[in-house]
Amino acid sequence: MLYVDGKWVEEGQAAVQPEDRGYNFGDGIYEVVRIYKGRLYQWDAHLTRLFRSAREIKLALPWSAEELTQLAKELLLKNNITEQDDATLYLQISRGAAPRIHDIPSGIKPVIMAFVRPKARPVEDLKKGWTAQLVEDIRWLRCDIKTLNLLGAVLVKQYAKDAGAQDSILHRNGIITECSSANLFAVKNGELYTHPADHLILHGITRQVVLDLAKANGIVAHETVFDIAFLKQADELFLTSTTAEIMPLVSVDGEAVGNGQPGPVTARLQALFEQHIHDSVLV
Ligand code: PMP
Repeated sequence: MLYVDGKWVEEGQAAVQPEDRGYNFGDGIYEVVRIYKGRLYQWDAHLTRLFRSAREIKLALPWSAEELTQLAKELLLKNNITEQDDATLYLQISRGAAPRIHDIPSGIKPVIMAFVRPKARPVEDLKKGWTAQLVEDIRWLRCDIKTLNLLGAVLVKQYAKDAGAQDSILHRNGIITECSSANLFAVKNGELYTHPADHLILHGITRQVVLDLAKANGIVAHETVFDIAFLKQADELFLTSTTAEIMPLVSVDGEAVGNGQPGPVTARLQALFEQHIHDSVLV
């Protein structure tokens, strides 16, 4: 069952208005939330980010945090998600439908849509890591907003795939920003480096969890800009996202990162993350 604009509908029965601005302009916002063992993971952080994205695009949400939480819980129930299940919840809010003009029509009513999908954890990949390709960051200058406008992300991911890699590492004028749908961390001499949470990257929830875990466990982390030369001599690289978790990157442009295997700091953070997920599922 999907939730579309106030109604529960069966798969395949959802309809989009031709002039829905999400559809015409990518004018809307979204969140992808992890469900571990039938439980919403980091739900409050996702809600906070959703409300921030809404504010930043001048979209007044007619739903309270409590109503959205109720909706998420109902979605899990209606889709028979149990404590056996790992899944993702997709929630999007478009600005709504109105005759097609660029500026924001007055009186427009936002359209909400949400569904869940089974999603196993990437356990094998977490051990092996992914390959990466450096790609120019061609996205817009408000990457901190989780907008439906994802064509830049689509293209940079495809450029990496076309080059034979599994994901892209993006750079803007030689400064490393993030990956196509994940944040990037470099490890040098046992310390972490990641781009500051400004307008050039999405403020990833997994990124923040990693920074918190690092702090709590005596791993020094720097939220600072670094360039391609720094990236290329890093001891380890990994990306972070809701679905890819803490994914080692073992090569960039065909050149091995470190010895070409996931490194010890990445492995340690993965172990800390594993424990953290376990603990948060218990509460
Ligand atoms: N950066 C970008 C561009 C993303 O799309 C995402 C989300 N997939 C992330 C980073 C990671 O964010 P999170 O950890 O909240 O999933």
